[in-house]
Amino acid sequence: MVGKAGINAKFYYSDGRIAVNEIQSPVLRKALKTGDIITAVNNYKVSRIEDVEFICDGYSIGETVQVNLQRSGKQLSVTVVLETFYSVSYLALLCFLGSIFFAIGLFVVIKRPDDNVAHIYHWLAVAAAIMSASTWGRFTIVPFGLGYLPRLAFSTAYAFVPALFVHLSFVFPRRKSQLFSKLSAPLYIISILLSLWMAGAFVASVNPLSINWFHKFLTGFNCTRWFFALSIIFGVANFIHSYLKAKEEAERRKLRWIMLGIIIGPLSFISLWQIPQTLTSVGLVPEEIILLILTITPLTFAISIVRYQFLDIDLIFNRSAVYFLVLSGLLIVYAGIVAAAAAVVALIGAFTLKASLIVSTVAAVVVALLFEPVRRIMQKFVDKKFFHVRYNYRIAQSKFTSEINQSLDIKRLAGFIIEKLDELLQLRCTAFYLLTEPDKRWRLLSQKDWIYRRADLIEHLLKIAGSSALQIISLADYIETGVEFKEADAQIFTDSKIALAMPFRSQNREIDGFLILGKKKSEAQFSMEDIDLLKTICSQISLAVERIRLQQKLLIQHAETQRLDELNQLKSYFVSSVSHELQTPLTSIKMFAELLRTKKKISQKDKTEYLEIIEGESGRLSRLIKNVLDFSKMERGVKEYHFAKINLIDKIEDVLRSMKYQLDQHGYKIDLNLSEQKLIIPADGDAIVEALTNLISNAIKYSRDEKYIAISASIEDDFAVIHVEDKGIGISLEDQDRIFDTFYRAEDEKIQSLAGAGLGLTIIRHIVEAHNGKIEVESSPGKGSKFSLYLPLEAGNEKHLNH
Ligand code: ADP
Repeated sequence: MVGKAGINAKFYYSDGRIAVNEIQSPVLRKALKTGDIITAVNNYKVSRIEDVEFICDGYSIGETVQVNLQRSGKQLSVTVVLETFYSVSYLALLCFLGSIFFAIGLFVVIKRPDDNVAHIYHWLAVAAAIMSASTWGRFTIVPFGLGYLPRLAFSTAYAFVPALFVHLSFVFPRRKSQLFSKLSAPLYIISILLSLWMAGAFVASVNPLSINWFHKFLTGFNCTRWFFALSIIFGVANFIHSYLKAKEEAERRKLRWIMLGIIIGPLSFISLWQIPQTLTSVGLVPEEIILLILTITPLTFAISIVRYQFLDIDLIFNRSAVYFLVLSGLLIVYAGIVAAAAAVVALIGAFTLKASLIVSTVAAVVVALLFEPVRRIMQKFVDKKFFHVRYNYRIAQSKFTSEINQSLDIKRLAGFIIEKLDELLQLRCTAFYLLTEPDKRWRLLSQKDWIYRRADLIEHLLKIAGSSALQIISLADYIETGVEFKEADAQIFTDSKIALAMPFRSQNREIDGFLILGKKKSEAQFSMEDIDLLKTICSQISLAVERIRLQQKLLIQHAETQRLDELNQLKSYFVSSVSHELQTPLTSIKMFAELLRTKKKISQKDKTEYLEIIEGESGRLSRLIKNVLDFSKMERGVKEYHFAKINLIDKIEDVLRSMKYQLDQHGYKIDLNLSEQKLIIPADGDAIVEALTNLISNAIKYSRDEKYIAISASIEDDFAVIHVEDKGIGISLEDQDRIFDTFYRAEDEKIQSLAGAGLGLTIIRHIVEAHNGKIEVESSPGKGSKFSLYLPLEAGNEKHLNH
């Protein structure tokens, strides 16, 4: 191309003929003049500007051509020396552009060797590279014929770029199959026909040189131009359509990269070059810069295909959109102010340089003041209109992870994850499997629409996951290309109707469980973004499971040690209090037995008294032992009751008789108020005696100076009720709630000094409850206590009782 020769002048059409406009080269200025009408070159009649270039292409730099022209009505023939057509810097730039295209195409296909989209893009980039690096022209390259190749390559690339672009718009980011299967053949046929047409006409036009055939080539070339323009418009529209229809955030992000490329390319061309050129006839920046900016387009396409998460496209897109809107809006405001002021000034006829300066300054200040508020409004607008979904997705994601971190129960965690995953990804089914401890069994902790179809699924997943750090197990069809994964057995996956599985591991890298996901309801593949989300979730699950297990272990340990502590405490308390209890009667027994043995002169009265004491104390001792034995039976749940119909009054009298010694010993006054009637209840007589004995023993034990006990028995509703009242030390309100607890004894010093194991009331309550009755206490400290036992009467016995 460096050797391409040409006439370095600008031409224009005047009445359909070629006229010379501007002559750059000083050498050429000697031969041609502005306004010359060129009619023939080397005796070939020329009617189009391209004709001149076409003929000159056959010569080398420095050679001459004969140009026939009309100058001010006269026919002239001048000899023109051909000069270098392209500047070296321009060519270098084109080459650079071509190689960038080529390199990007190559990069994509290397990165994604198995991806059909990457291949299509690769060919598109190669075609674009050829287009920009070759441009047109048949060059005088030896050997003969080789010089034709660039033009042939160019026109072929030119015909194929549009078809490839449309093709890409149908397969990226997702295959829109139905429509394209119908469209693809005609599209590529058009490309082939057009390139054949151009190639044929071109070959025919050069050997021998034929302007006629060249015109046929030009017609083909113009058709290709239309095909090119329409296809690009169609492709862009197709991408926009895909964007509007995109169900997945990932797809939208990929398409935003494409849009960015499309916007940057044409927009910069229009705003920096086209518009300024029409207004001022010079571009805002040199053409070379525009060409460089154009390289951004293939780059954004490549990013979209290979790594759309490379940069935050949303942020780039968001900011560009905001600033584009703000600048456009403010430009309109500026133009509005200036136009309005100009109109006013013109009306009053005082248009001066000073006035115009003031107006533009005011307008600039207004625009500057408006910038920030307008930007804020636009930012809100853009966020709301275009980024709403993503915003929600982000919020959902962060909520998700914080909830995982807070959960305290693995089963609930599993349920939560399944529910949220379904909400975020809309899946056909989901399952959460965990290797439970300590039995090491696989359990399904939570699921949605999950049918366990293959018994060997977990085993298979374990085999595939192995010890590799890679987390995704799936099939190529189900996840986006570019995501690394381990290939599962297709049969097992299809049978189980699942698309993806992810193991989560404990700290020592062992598999703790699996998250199993069915296909998406939308049939879309799992995108890179989904996979990122899933990976985050899985690592959060691992941590959470480990944390929850540890917490539970600690809790169990804590409870265990607490229970042991309590037990130990109780044991020692029990031993000390019971032995203390046993000691008192034993001491009396021993003492009086000794007296009987050693006292020489002993009256009959004393003897009887001593023996009564020994008898009474032995009774107390055996009651105590009975209490302890009963308590231990109750504790172990093996205490048996033998129910029979008994008369409560009889039992009260029995108890009083057996405790006579104790009561008399301390000089108690017993106020007895028993019902005249028999109180027949279904009960275990021994147990009732034990309960009453304990109650009366307490009344004795906790009385002070006033030795008074009132015992009454009567019927209240369906119950036989016994009240045992004393005028002793009483019980504080606080203690009244606790005295029935095992081993509980009021903290009071007076009480602690008395013998007792804190078992009596516990046993009474147990007995009463076993009889479906209840025990109540009324008491005020210092005044005395009243215990009431309620025992259900024999059903239908009230009549019988009245006899
Ligand atoms: P113990 O009498 O061996 O301490 P109990 O279970 O019979 O065990 O009683 C528990 C506690 O209830 C006693 O320690 C005492 O504080 C209180 N208590 C029981 N009966 C009476 C009563 N009649 N008067 C005052 N306090 C009582």
